[in-house]
Amino acid sequence: MIRCKEVAALVSEQSTGRLPWWRVDARLHVPVCRNCRRFARQIRQIGLASSVCRDAFEPDGAPGDFEARVVKTLIDP
Ligand SMILES: [Zn+2]
Repeated sequence: MIRCKEVAALVSEQSTGRLPWWRVDARLHVPVCRNCRRFARQIRQIGLASSVCRDAFEPDGAPGDFEARVVKTLIDP
């Protein structure tokens, strides 16, 4: 059985807060785990906020992985 820490690591890899489709174990875990649901929602919100900031401040110059880098920095500074 997958642990919350493993799910958090998987979720943190995506600025969308979504899990890879092939990680069925993690995808089954999140709906029944309050903490992981909350964490995934927070990651999605950070990714969305980063996207808005990128578009507002650097519409032409921001790198494509800007959102993922912001999430990674916030999760693991
Ligand atoms: Zn969990």
